[in-house]
Amino acid sequence: MNKFRMHNYHHMSSRRKFLTKLTMAAAAAPLAAWHRSSQQAIPVPPVADGPTLRVALMGLGSYANRVAEAMQQCKRAKITGLISGTSSKLKEWGERYGVPEGSRYNYSNFDQVRNNPDIDAIYVITPNAQHKEQVVRIARAGKHAICEKPMAINAREGAEMVAACKQAGVQLLVGYRMHFEANTLEIIRMRNAGEFGKPLFFQGLSGFRIGNPSQWRLDPKLSGGGAMMDIGIYSVNGARYMVGEEPVWVTAQETKTDPVLFREGVDETIQFQLGFPSGAIASCLSTYRMNYLDRFFLDGENGFAELSPATGYGPIKARTHKGELNFQHITHQTTQMDEMAAILLDGKKPIVPLDGEEGLKDLKIIDAIYEAVRTGKKVSLKL
Ligand code: NAD
Repeated sequence: MNKFRMHNYHHMSSRRKFLTKLTMAAAAAPLAAWHRSSQQAIPVPPVADGPTLRVALMGLGSYANRVAEAMQQCKRAKITGLISGTSSKLKEWGERYGVPEGSRYNYSNFDQVRNNPDIDAIYVITPNAQHKEQVVRIARAGKHAICEKPMAINAREGAEMVAACKQAGVQLLVGYRMHFEANTLEIIRMRNAGEFGKPLFFQGLSGFRIGNPSQWRLDPKLSGGGAMMDIGIYSVNGARYMVGEEPVWVTAQETKTDPVLFREGVDETIQFQLGFPSGAIASCLSTYRMNYLDRFFLDGENGFAELSPATGYGPIKARTHKGELNFQHITHQTTQMDEMAAILLDGKKPIVPLDGEEGLKDLKIIDAIYEAVRTGKKVSLKL
C-alpha cells in the first residue's frame, strides 16, 4: 500500500467511526418519521446485453488498481491493454489480468494502439497535467478516450481535447462515477418529478486532509492546482447535477494556513458560491486541510435531499424529506464501466451526461473560481 492509499485508508476508517457515531446519535433522536424501508430497486434498469468494451488502462497507480479490480465484475467491459512507464508493472499486471505482451505499451510507443484491433478505448488514470496530451494522442490513434477527473488542468486544454476527439471521430468520456450511482440518480429523478419543489439552495462539502508532501497532488506541474482540481471538483460537478441548472456566476475566497505544504499554485481551502438562472444559489467548500467533508444538501421549496457521504467509494447514504433511501451498494467503477460500454458501443444516453463537453463545463467553472479568488470579484459564466 503506498503512502497516499494508506493515508486514505486511515482517513476513511476515521470517517467511518465518525459516521457511526453520528448514526447512533440520530437513532436516539426523535426522528421516527425517517424510517428505513426495505431495500429499494435500482432507479435505472441494468445495462442491456451487448458487445464487450475492450479497455486499455493507462497509468497503473492506485486508482487504476481500483478500476481494474472493479472491472472483474463487469458484464460488458474488460481489460485488454495496459500502458505504463514501468516495465515490471506491465509484466505483473499483464499476468494478473491476462493481457498479452503485444497489448502492453509504454508512454513512448502507445500511439501504436492504432494497429491493435483488441482495444476499443483507453482509460487515462495518470496525474492531471498529463491528461490533455495523452487524450489527444489517443484520439489521433483512433481510439475512444475515457479520462479521469479533472479532465484537464484548465478549460483551454479541455477544449483542445474535445476538438481532437471530434476531429478524429472518437468519443471522450470523463470518469464521473457518481453519474451512475443509485442514490444520486434517485434524487435527480425526484427533483425532475418536482418532489422537492423549486431548488433553492445547494451546499457541497468536499475535502480531506492530505498526507505525504512529496506526492504529485501537491506538485502544481503535475496536479494543475490543489484541492479544487482533486476533490473540490466533486462539489462543482455535484452542484450542477443536484440543482439541475448551469451556473451563471461565481464568487470565491481562498484560505491558506500552510504555504509550505501548499505552495504557490496549490490551493489548500477555497469556499465558492454559484448562482443559477432560476435564482437558486450554491455554497461549497473545497479543502485538503479538513476531514469528514463529503456532503451534499439540496434544499427545495417543498423538500430536501441529503447525500452524506455523497461522493466517497460508498456505500453512499441518502435521505430526503420523505425518508431514507436504501439502495444496494454496487462498486461504482463496475457500474461505470458497464454503462460506458453501453454509451460507447450502443449509443446509450446516460441520465447525467459525462462526455468531454460536460468535463469542459466543470473546468470553465474551476477557471472562474480561480479568477474570482485572484481578483476578489464576481465572475460571470456562460456555459
Ligand atoms: P497515483 O499516483 O496512485 O497513480 C498515478 C499513476 O501515474 C502511477 O502509476 C504513476 O506511476 C503514473 N505516472 C506517470 N507519470 C507520472 C509522473 N510524472 N508523476 C507521477 N506519476 C506518474 O494517482 P491516482 O490516485 O491513481 O490518480 C490518477 C488520476 O485518477 C488522477 O487524475 C486522479 O484525479 C484520478 N482519480 C480519480 C478518482 C475517482 O474516484 N474518480 C479517484 C482517485 C484518483
